[in-house]
Amino acid sequence: MAQEYIEIRGARENNLKNVSLKIPKRRITIFTGVSGSGKSSIVFDTVATEAQRQMNENFNMFIRTFLPRYSQPDADAIENLSMPIVVDQKRLGGGSHSTMGTITDIYSVLRRLYSHIGKPYVGHANVFSFNDPKGMCPNCNGLGRKMGVDLDLFLDKSKSLNEGAILFNEYAVDSWGWNLLEQSKLFDMNKKLSKYSEKEMDLLLYSKPFKVKTKVGGKDFNLTQEGIINRFIAKYITRDVKTMSERTQKAVAPYITMAPCTVCKGARLSQDVLKCKINGYNIAELASMEVGQLIEVIKAIKEPKAAPLLKTLVQRLQYLVDIGLEYLTLNRETDTLSGGESQRVKIVKHLTSSLVDVMYVFDEPSVGLHPRDVHRLNELLQQLRDRGNTVLVVEHDPDVIKVADHIVDVGPQAGSQGGKIMD
Ligand SMILES: [Zn+2]
Repeated sequence: MAQEYIEIRGARENNLKNVSLKIPKRRITIFTGVSGSGKSSIVFDTVATEAQRQMNENFNMFIRTFLPRYSQPDADAIENLSMPIVVDQKRLGGGSHSTMGTITDIYSVLRRLYSHIGKPYVGHANVFSFNDPKGMCPNCNGLGRKMGVDLDLFLDKSKSLNEGAILFNEYAVDSWGWNLLEQSKLFDMNKKLSKYSEKEMDLLLYSKPFKVKTKVGGKDFNLTQEGIINRFIAKYITRDVKTMSERTQKAVAPYITMAPCTVCKGARLSQDVLKCKINGYNIAELASMEVGQLIEVIKAIKEPKAAPLLKTLVQRLQYLVDIGLEYLTLNRETDTLSGGESQRVKIVKHLTSSLVDVMYVFDEPSVGLHPRDVHRLNELLQQLRDRGNTVLVVEHDPDVIKVADHIVDVGPQAGSQGGKIMD
């Protein structure tokens, strides 16, 4: 097949000086040059922008209002583009429901594996999802964490109740709350909390509501008392914070902390789902293993009827190992990844896609990569090319540049002194 080219004529975006060039399709082209020379102006602001703009033209006006807007780059002509995928260093967002496992689709394969061969059988692959009501831990709604009370700030255990052991001001000595505790006659007001037995402590902090007889102005009253932490949670955590006054929010905020869910211990799944195991591991245990260790555990599963799923898993995990991310876990939340890690996770995501004739655009993919792992990155770029894709890379690292089929050097200097293709 004759070599095809992406053709650019008369590009003048930013500092570009009427640049014309041909970029071979289905090859790796690397754009080099000093910072500010104009290489990003060619790759991102001209080629990628025009490709994305043309893509969006395919959608109707309604859809387009939801898409990012791209204005036409300043150029005489840009021809023969492919569908663009920009793999940049923008951090992956997604909140707590997006993890390494979900974004790479590895977790969905793992879920199918557990549904298929996990013992005991607990249901369809969906129940292994912490985003699905059937599978999520009901205590933390699949978050793995729960707001609770920081006891170290709430109590001073070196003091007795009479000395003001409860630091939260609703129980300050002589306050209404403190008086209720005293009148309940359930607590030794002079004993330091550090000397309380587990049972006494439990009664103070976590008891269910109970009636307390008290006298107000010589009259008997029945008042309801309950564990002070339970009361705090019901009053300030379970209800929507936004319905409280700013003053109250400020007063209670210091005592509130995010802690691992006490029911699932951070596993995010219901107890039934966690009982389902393969080779002694439940799915949450696998998701919290480093990828380098996980791949060995998967390889050790010998189950002929799951062979295709196991093969897919090993292949995808190997991509993560190959790109130097073997130290990450599948349950790692994507918004905690660095820019360099985010870009490499995106590369893996695209490696598992079966799209062909795509134009991949990379922004310094070697950033954050250990020098000894650069050759692995190069192999992945080559794999993308060998599947029939066009790969454009902006890069400084000479070890990455080695993998280029074609090099475009932009210069000679930065800013107004740049913007030309060097021969
Ligand atoms: Zn939980």
